[in-house]
Amino acid sequence: MPAAPDDTTPDPTIAELIAARPHLRLHAMDGLVMEDVPLNRVADAVGTPTWVYSAGALRTRYRALTTALRDAGLDAHAHYAVKANDHLAILALLGREGAGADVVSEGELRRARAAGIPAARIVYSGVGKTERELRLALTEDIGQINIESAEELRMLSALAASMGRTARVAPRINPDVDAGTHDKISTGRAGDKFGVPWADAAALYAEAARLPGIEPVGLATHIGSQIMDLAPYGAAFARIAELVRVLRDQGHTVRVVDCGGGLGIPYRNQPGPGPEALAGAIKAAFHNLDVRVALEPGRWLVGPAGVLLASVILQKQTAGTRFVVLDAAMNDLVRPAMYEAWHGIVPVSAAAAVAPVSPCDIVGPVCETGDTFARDRLLPMLSPGMRIAILDAGAYGAVMSSPYNARPRAAEVLIDGAAWTVVRPRQTHEALWADEIMPA
Ligand SMILES: *Cc1c(COP(=O)(O)O)cnc(C)c1O
Repeated sequence: MPAAPDDTTPDPTIAELIAARPHLRLHAMDGLVMEDVPLNRVADAVGTPTWVYSAGALRTRYRALTTALRDAGLDAHAHYAVKANDHLAILALLGREGAGADVVSEGELRRARAAGIPAARIVYSGVGKTERELRLALTEDIGQINIESAEELRMLSALAASMGRTARVAPRINPDVDAGTHDKISTGRAGDKFGVPWADAAALYAEAARLPGIEPVGLATHIGSQIMDLAPYGAAFARIAELVRVLRDQGHTVRVVDCGGGLGIPYRNQPGPGPEALAGAIKAAFHNLDVRVALEPGRWLVGPAGVLLASVILQKQTAGTRFVVLDAAMNDLVRPAMYEAWHGIVPVSAAAAVAPVSPCDIVGPVCETGDTFARDRLLPMLSPGMRIAILDAGAYGAVMSSPYNARPRAAEVLIDGAAWTVVRPRQTHEALWADEIMPA
């Protein structure tokens, strides 16, 4: 098990953070550059806060993942977990690379289709799909519906039969393993709300095989997010493989194992498993079962490909602490407030990136103490107007943002080589209340 960074592991330096991210580099004149575009140029044109994504990094990561799966000899297909970043441009880019989609709501299903992802490559997950959502999934004839309870299975059967459709179904199994990740993103323990208990799985599969409108095609699992240790994957896959054998012995057809998502990324440059290690764990569990493998990666594909660009409003000294107040806040990037998440923070200016550092707290202007991006972070002196980039903000960033404190949604930019596009303009203040209605 790789050592997880703890409070005693020193933070990576600014230079180490940049060096570990191939789509970023520091240019002596232009400062921090993503692919071939200086981030200062983006900020000059569209202001801050702004999300900036690297199309090149997205393609490189998707190809690295699929290559690792292919090299392991697996018949594997990636269904990008739309919830990590649901921008149409990102869905379309990954769709063109061959990715399918893993969706958890009608909105995500519609987004994936609007971005051109074929219905056959869409998997529908989630613990509470409404009848309306299931109806849409059946109308679109999507590839697979992962059901999470007997109640949902029966509802889907009745609906499919009434529509004259057949739903390809994979029960999501709760393997009762602890993914060793943050409590709020652990999903595979017996007490978590997700999935069918392992002990009930065979009976449920048998019921699925009997019910009208249902074709059970395999098994699914998803044990959590930001997983940096292979062991829980190995334990979960072993339990699923065992279930495949049990079901086949009982005469059932099991063609697919959906291994879910959850592969973590080294926010703090810490060691962790990459796609090769994950492919190895999948192969170890399933290699002699002749199954098609589905994966639902989200964070691993898009997290490192994005940064949140922000400007310093002011720097102030209070009770011995240097506070750097940004124009970005928890309403933009909620991960530090919600999960105590650590994000690398680097200055955009080349001079600042190599200047002497001292500890400071990086905060936003929202009226909550939780609006803190980092504590005791070693950064240079930062004067008003200087820019910083919050790294690895491509996943669970813009999608989780809100207009709290009447702060408009930040702009989004996609860089591709030397070209860059504003893929979502900054929301206007008027748009914040444009759909509000005054009673007569
Ligand atoms: C969130 C989720 C994913 C993606 O998780 P990542 O950690 O972003 O890879 C995949 N499958 C399901 C069912 C999910 O809920």
